[in-house]
Amino acid sequence: MYFCVFMKGRGLFGAIFISMMFLMTACRQTVTQEQMTFGPGCIVSDELLEKYGVDSFFVCMEIPDVIFDFMQGRSYKEDCTIPRSNLRYLFIIHRNMDGQAVVGELVVNKEISADILEIMRELYDMSYPIEKVRLVDYYEGDDKLSMADNNTSAFNWRSLTGPSDKISKHAKGMAIDINPLYNPYYRFPYVNETVLPAPGEAYMDRMWEFPCKIDEDDACYRIFTEHGFKWGGNWNSLRDYQHFEK
Ligand SMILES: [Zn+2]
Repeated sequence: MYFCVFMKGRGLFGAIFISMMFLMTACRQTVTQEQMTFGPGCIVSDELLEKYGVDSFFVCMEIPDVIFDFMQGRSYKEDCTIPRSNLRYLFIIHRNMDGQAVVGELVVNKEISADILEIMRELYDMSYPIEKVRLVDYYEGDDKLSMADNNTSAFNWRSLTGPSDKISKHAKGMAIDINPLYNPYYRFPYVNETVLPAPGEAYMDRMWEFPCKIDEDDACYRIFTEHGFKWGGNWNSLRDYQHFEK
């Protein structure tokens, strides 16, 4: 039903979306990356951007069945108490490290879906580099694997990173991690020193200037905080440079 609502008035982009959904479904079984023409991770040519308009590539919708099926047992674990109806699927594009427009996707809580769509659009418009924006389900719901691959992601039903069994803001779809390899999570030595992802240790020197470093001078920090998000990079108990939450 919501496919029809979504398709209404979207014409060609609707056709692309349906192809994408078909390809994403097929891709998880037999289709190789080369054959996948418009799934997440695919580069969008300037011609396509011009033909359909950038707005067509920033879409919020209820979670399509094919995506929800894929999430089962991965980000949407058996004990998940967040109803599907509280979550939204965002289809977006972002600029990768080479400045190319790339298809991305996020699942977030509906309460922040409009914010995240606007933020991703602002970051795209200013060519802010984000390496990958794929569902954590491609990593079997394993956040450490997703972070180590520098994947930007949001919803994942899991407990807080660290020695607590409280649920994370990610579990509610109320948080997003941006370029996590370059912006690691760091817990101080007096607790049990941890850097996540482990390869992110190379980026723990925050005095060093490198691309995609999130600090208070960074565009990500500015745009997220303008939208009312809190940044994990200036917390007292730990540093979570990749993390924004509401
Ligand atoms: Zn986070």
